[in-house]
Amino acid sequence: MNVIVFGYEGKVGSIVAGGLRAAGHEVQGVELGDSIPEGGEAVVDFTQPDAVVGNVEAALERGLPVVVGTTGWDSERERIDALAKERGVAVFVAPNFSIGAVLMMRFAAEAARHLPRAEIIELHNEAKKDAPSGTAKATAALIGGDPAIHSVRLPGLVAHQEVIFGAEGQLLTLRHDTTGRESFADGVLLALSKLSELPPGLTLGLESLL
Ligand code: NAP
Repeated sequence: MNVIVFGYEGKVGSIVAGGLRAAGHEVQGVELGDSIPEGGEAVVDFTQPDAVVGNVEAALERGLPVVVGTTGWDSERERIDALAKERGVAVFVAPNFSIGAVLMMRFAAEAARHLPRAEIIELHNEAKKDAPSGTAKATAALIGGDPAIHSVRLPGLVAHQEVIFGAEGQLLTLRHDTTGRESFADGVLLALSKLSELPPGLTLGLESLL
């Protein structure tokens, strides 16, 4: 597939672009200020909250399906869903493309059925612009009960999350560590492989493809 990658020089975008090439896809990179090149069959976006919506709109104008990893633009989702439906194009959005993190969320939802009191600690590199993370917000929505979310931003971190369940006399901690950004490339490949089967509009979360 010929894939246009927005943010291909970024920390995640560069690794995802490498993973796509290694899997046999053709990659065309787009950085800030570039227009969408000809020949693309799908778009991948790993940019920043104030850029992603414009990029998705530009892709939809061209009728190109989109896979979005950029977080921190939740308030615009409904509008993009409506626009994508109007254009008859699929937009896949996941706050976390690593399979392990998606499993952690699934296990957290299961634990919450038995241990309702929980708090979430998400830890990311200091360069991350949004807080709390999209993964933490998605986990909170899954487990319900409006759990507190604590955000840590420090150099040396990649992307990590703990969900701590507490009850009288016991604690259960679920933890996922992203130690390398390569883990996101596999999830993006999975999303690209399923794009043609998705309905027009927004599809949310890697778990919906597993
Ligand atoms: P980053 O290193 O800052 O990379 C962002 C890249 O996008 C930069 O190269 C930036 O260029 C470029 N960019 C900014 N505006 C653009 C535009 N309008 N068009 C094209 N390119 C543009 O950030 P990152 O760590 O790679 O993270 C990127 C996003 O992915 C963040 O929102 C992060 O939270 C999210 N993320 C998601 C997942 C997931 O699994 N869903 C995993 C990790 C990260 P300049 O440097 O020139 O501004």
